[in-house]
Amino acid sequence: MGSIDLHVHTTVSDGTLTPREVVRYAKKKGLKVIAITDHDSVEGNKDAIDEGAAIGLGILPGMEISVEYSCGSMHLLGYCLDIESDFLKEKLEFLQGVRRERNAKILNKLRASGIALEYGDILRLSSGKQIGRLHFATALTNLGYSATRQEAFNRFLKKGRPAYADRFRFNPEEAIGLVLKSKGIPVLAHPCTLGSRSPKEFEALIMELVQWGLQGIEVYYPDHTDEQVHYYRSVAEKYGILTTGGSDYHGDNKPGVDIGVYNGDDQLSISLIDAMREFRGNS
Ligand SMILES: [Zn+2]
Ligand SMILES: [Zn+2]
Repeated sequence: MGSIDLHVHTTVSDGTLTPREVVRYAKKKGLKVIAITDHDSVEGNKDAIDEGAAIGLGILPGMEISVEYSCGSMHLLGYCLDIESDFLKEKLEFLQGVRRERNAKILNKLRASGIALEYGDILRLSSGKQIGRLHFATALTNLGYSATRQEAFNRFLKKGRPAYADRFRFNPEEAIGLVLKSKGIPVLAHPCTLGSRSPKEFEALIMELVQWGLQGIEVYYPDHTDEQVHYYRSVAEKYGILTTGGSDYHGDNKPGVDIGVYNGDDQLSISLIDAMREFRGNS
């Protein structure tokens, strides 16, 4: 168990604890600092910061966005953002609109496949906040169309299946620019999901991302093997960028993943937070 966790989701996106609940849970687990990194939203940060101040837990304001990328899936984390920035709010509102459009497409496709799903079934699961594919998977499972959420993805929701709908994503340069313009620190999330690529290709990608302003790699992550942790860390060190880490905690929506638990947690110390604040100061 480390004392910091820089990748945590709440009910604002697809986690099951509210921002205040997640902060209290982290405190109970003995953590000192967490970052709230909901998908395409910074909405949960305010409550988390309030609660953190009240009970003595540090909060780094954050978010996670999906990035257009041909191979595998690329996510970008943004830390220490100016969550009041009008520029950021406008971009995130745009992404929320993109999500709503995609959700409507998914619902129509499911209904066209003969599934009697109502929008209300999904809305109830999301606490009225952002809706994502995980909520569809849960609804399909609750209604008996699939035995598990994974099966719902495999049968209906994933790429190539009948209810898959693509959506707009910023390209890597735009996504990094968005975080920088919002006074944040752009960090490449869980590089293990980028798809299989040779070390040479991975380094070429990092070099390109660093040129656009990438300032860190999420080296410590539950799905990373010891070899991957070692390798990603060596690449981060080579390019002089930060090594961060987190659990990608989603509460009950991601069983088996607990807050503060990720591979290599003993490597991540509280001094990283100072380094991040300093990094932000320099940018
Ligand atoms: Zn992610
Ligand atoms: Zn995440």
